[in-house]
Amino acid sequence: MQKEKEIELLLNREQIPYRKGEPMKDHTSFHIGGGAAFFVTPRTEEELRKTICEVKPLAPLFFLGRGSNLLVSDQGLDTVVVEIGKEFSDITFPEEDSILVSAGASLLRLCAEAKERGLTGLEFAYGIPGSVGGAVYMNAGAFNGEMKDVVEYVDYLDGDGVLHRIEGETLGFGYRKSFFTGTDFCILRAKIRLQKGNREEIEQKMEELLARRKLKQPLEYPSAGSTFKRPEGAYAGALIEQSGLKGRLVGGAMVSEKHANFLINYDHATCADMRALIRLVQQEVKEKTGYQLECEVLFLGE
Ligand SMILES: Cc1cc2nc3c(=O)[nH]c(=O)nc-3n(C[C@H](O)[C@H](O)[C@H](O)COP(=O)(O)OP(=O)(O)OC[C@H]3O[C@@H](n4cnc5c(N)ncnc54)[C@H](O)[C@@H]3O)c2cc1C
Repeated sequence: MQKEKEIELLLNREQIPYRKGEPMKDHTSFHIGGGAAFFVTPRTEEELRKTICEVKPLAPLFFLGRGSNLLVSDQGLDTVVVEIGKEFSDITFPEEDSILVSAGASLLRLCAEAKERGLTGLEFAYGIPGSVGGAVYMNAGAFNGEMKDVVEYVDYLDGDGVLHRIEGETLGFGYRKSFFTGTDFCILRAKIRLQKGNREEIEQKMEELLARRKLKQPLEYPSAGSTFKRPEGAYAGALIEQSGLKGRLVGGAMVSEKHANFLINYDHATCADMRALIRLVQQEVKEKTGYQLECEVLFLGE
């Protein structure tokens, strides 16, 4: 990597923790991916800001949540991965019906806090893996709910490390996209607006939705959830199934027998296996049904 020495000196000088060559397979739900040139784990907003201001001019940064929507190259990443992890997981309650949550908190924990406080509105998200930052970035959604419905505002650092607040209406939420899609901004925290509800009913709804996930999804295998977006007027899983692709294997990557839109790491799959399987599914579905499937999973690296 160009500027490797400079980056190292800088991180050492600022005493910002990092590792070199960190295997990304240990940080993705697919359990796939080679080493990251630098894997930086800032502990404070100040360390994060310094990383943005000082390291970004030397090499591109990638902000990592829980890696539950990522397919990382076997060759690894020639970038600086910045983990927004457990150091950024504060949860506070500014009002009776709102939650202020840092980007590194897990969505699961946020849902559990909402349930404990008898706040309704986040039931849809119970069982979606990943961090709050990742959920905002992706506008994660399920069972007719999405982050769009509950985010009041987001605080973020722009590409120069300057703090901004953006309000719900202007967050540009769409199907698995947001204002943050394609930017180099780092989400710091979100204010979540909910409604007072009944704790038992919230719990019941969450457990019911989780049970539906367990029944329909191959959670026993590593995956990144739904591989393809829902095309207009159809369901990706149904199209893949109709095309006779359930159980199709490329190397160690497989189209799940349980849910055809889940491409799973069946047996030590590489990124190359998974990408080849994705292409094969896209080609055969196009030929057999006319639909062009678009990936929901994000690719990183060559
Ligand atoms: C079993 C399973 C089931 C799933 N079910 C669903 C589902 O029902 N609905 C759904 O929508 N998704 C689902 N997913 C996909 C995934 O969980 C979501 O997309 C999730 O929101 C990603 O969060 P993450 O923290 O893992 O983000 P990552 O995968 O780490 O990152 C995703 C994107 O967000 C960006 N990002 C993350 N944190 C920040 C930050 N702080 N600042 C700026 N950018 C950031 C990353 O740079 C990247 O571009 C599922 C995945 C799995 C494995």
